[in-house]
Parts: sequence; C-alpha cells; structure tokens
Amino acid sequence: MEKVDILINNALIVTMNPRRDVIPRGFVAVRDGKIVDVGSGDGRSKYVAEEYVELRRSVVTPGFVCAHTHFYGLLLTGSPWFGVIEAPSDFQQNLQRIWWALDETLTHEDVYVSALLGSILFARTGTTFFKDLLDAPNVTQNSLDYVEKGVTEVGLRGFAGFSVTQRRSLSEGYEGIAENERFVRKTHANPESKVKGVFTLHASFTVTDDVLIKTKELADKYGTIYAMHLEEGLIDVYHNIERYGKRPVERLRDIGFLSPRFLAIHGVQVTEDELMILKQHDVKIAHNAMSNMINGVGVPPIPKMLGLGMTVGIGNDGYVMDVFENMRSTYLVHKVVNKDPRLMSPLKVVEMATIDAAKALGVHDKIGSIEVGKEADITILVPEFTHTPLDERTVYGHLVNTFNGKDVWGVLVRGSWVTKERRVITVDLDRVIDYAEKVVNRLWDRMISMEVKYKVEWLKP
Ligand SMILES: [Zn+2]
Repeated sequence: MEKVDILINNALIVTMNPRRDVIPRGFVAVRDGKIVDVGSGDGRSKYVAEEYVELRRSVVTPGFVCAHTHFYGLLLTGSPWFGVIEAPSDFQQNLQRIWWALDETLTHEDVYVSALLGSILFARTGTTFFKDLLDAPNVTQNSLDYVEKGVTEVGLRGFAGFSVTQRRSLSEGYEGIAENERFVRKTHANPESKVKGVFTLHASFTVTDDVLIKTKELADKYGTIYAMHLEEGLIDVYHNIERYGKRPVERLRDIGFLSPRFLAIHGVQVTEDELMILKQHDVKIAHNAMSNMINGVGVPPIPKMLGLGMTVGIGNDGYVMDVFENMRSTYLVHKVVNKDPRLMSPLKVVEMATIDAAKALGVHDKIGSIEVGKEADITILVPEFTHTPLDERTVYGHLVNTFNGKDVWGVLVRGSWVTKERRVITVDLDRVIDYAEKVVNRLWDRMISMEVKYKVEWLKP
C-alpha cells in the first residue's frame, strides 16, 4: 500500500472542484504538502499514513480564502478612541477620524502584532490564505516585513501590499511604491516565503495618475496582481468627477489601468456603465459585506456582477475575520437591499469564499479546491450540533446558515497543521495574548495623547 503523510478519512468532503463534487464518505490523502488523492470509500484500503484523521461527523472543505483584509484594522476593536472622537457621519469622516488616525499612529511592532492576531483569528476560523493591505504611513520602509513576520510565525499564507496613498504629500506615494517593490523582490526570490508581495494602492481619490500608472507597470513587470479600493464611498466618485471630469472606472480605463490582474475592492457606487467596463477588462472584485454595513456606505451590485459572469471573492476589510459570518452576511444582504429572496445561493457564497476568491487573487491553480495536485490547504469542521441532517444534499446550506468559526476543528496549510483539536499549535496563545494586550494598550494611549490630524491635504490636480 502506498504511503502518505496524512489521511483524512470517513469525512463529508466539499471539493469545490469544477464539478462541485461533494463526497458523502470520502478521504483526502496528503503527501509532501500536496493533495495526492481524493475519493469515496475507506482510504485505509489504499493508503498507509503517518497520521490518520478520522472524526465523527466531520466536514472537509478547501482552506477558505479571504480576498481582502487589513490586519491592522483589528486593533480598533473596542478601542477607547471611539469615545474620544465625534462620531463620523459619512465615509470620508470615517477615514479621517478613525482609519487615518489609527494608521498614522502605527509602529512596526503594532503591525507585527496585528498580523499575529489576524493570522490566529483566520486560522481558528478556517481561513488559510488572504490578501492584506497595510497603511502605516509614518513607518513605511520595511513595514511589510512585520506583516510577514506575524503571518509566518502562525503558519498561514497570503499576499501583502502597502496601501499606497498621496493624501498627505505627493512623495509618500512613491515611498509606498518603493516599499511594495522591495517586498515583491524579496519574497518572490524566496520560494519558502509564506507571504508574497503584491502591488496595492489605497483608492483613486488619494493618488495621482502617475502613481496609478507606475503601479500597473510594476505589477506587469513582476507578474503580480494589483489591488485598490474602488468606489467604496461617494467621495471617490465626487473627487474623480471634480478633478478629472469622469467617474473612477472611466478614469482608470482611460489611463490603461484596468486588466484581469486588477482586484477592485468594494465597487459599491459603480454604475451600470462602469460595471460593463469592469466586465470588459475582466477585473476581479473583493466583496466585504460586513464592512459595507458597519461603514454605512451602501451595498455593491454583486448579483449583477455575478450575472455578468464576473469573479467575486469574499473579503472582510479588516472587520470580522470569521469567514462564516462574512459568508452569512453576503448571503443575506443582497436579498434585503434588492427585496428579492432569490438572490445569492449557498453554493455561490461558498464558491466566493473558496475557489472564486482564489481566482480573484490569481492562485486558483494552487489552492481553493480539494483536487489532486493542489496544495494541501484544508479546513476540517466538526460541528458540535446540527439540528437537521448534515449530508451531501445539505452541506452548502449548513456552511452558510448554521456553521461558525468555532466549528473549525483544524486547518492544514500546505500539509502542515496550524490549528488542530480547535487549538492553534504553532504559537503559544497565552503568551501572544499577554504580549498583544500590552502593545495594543500602548497604541491606544498614543492615539489618545497624540494630536492626530483629521485634515486631509488634498492633492493638487
Ligand atoms: Zn479595505
């Protein structure tokens, strides 16, 4: 009998392969970090394994993929800062009073701690791959190394980019681009890097055409995806119309910025015409339903995008890291806002958190489904209780309607355990919690004692 490293046996397997096969009692065999076999029946009749994983009522899915996050955003949860500021009344004030106040206060240590915490939250709730945007404009140089350090200690994988902006000065845009290029060169040269650099920008209303064009050129040169927030709030639309006489998507098209490797984050305010332009250029979308809700910016036309055959992945925008909460919100919000309960199926939502998110990030040849030859990024769920039968007919409905992150029993990243028996095994969780508490308290003190500028120095056209 053939030898493998891990044999997951007697499980309900949600493959997300092109046929979307769900195997009621099946096995997954893992060797050297790759999936070497997937099938139905007893895997023990074919394989001898170093380790057998055979759990009662387990569901095996691909490791979930997060199309967009900001680890540093986690540092805001429960922050006393909210008690200091006047509550923002729109998206622009939200950025100025909350996000930009936070990111101007960040140190490299804060960045490291946020990546550590974010990776732990992801691993505990089933997400194994992500794309992160860091905005830390006072410590730009080498900042992405601290994202990499936190993620690598936990053992996840993903993409990281510095969120290039020129909201304070034109030159800081080029410093951000230099940091991205430095990190891309460093990580792409090293096959062992768990975090790979990608080119990212904040939004079209905080950067000039030069910076957009330069970013696109570099992404082409290094063959990476590139990502930017697009029409999250109305400020993006107003700014582009005022300064350039056109809407954001039209401006991006006219300077040759759009391509299939561009990941547009949000797209809340896009018009039908802009949607067609995005579709024509095969632009990918990261959808962050819960972030859109908490920011009160509106809801993007995701069902229309899906109807056009566009690729949409689910992200969390640095708000709630549990993919099940984000899937559930994605499932529900489009029904509400369009007053149409037919919109969004459980299967589509699971696709958007696995294979479609992998497509949006350009990594679907390696992860996003359980198929022979793919890397063994696998999530194993063991729900403590399901009130209706859990089988091949019902599993998508359960994943979207009843499961949550606490049902995750373990995750494998390239065949290595990161969580197992519902515990993170790569880092000492108590030590991380104690350390992070100190760092985050210091950050909050600095925010409150510092005179953080709310003012935006608008770009000259
Ligand atoms: Zn974001």
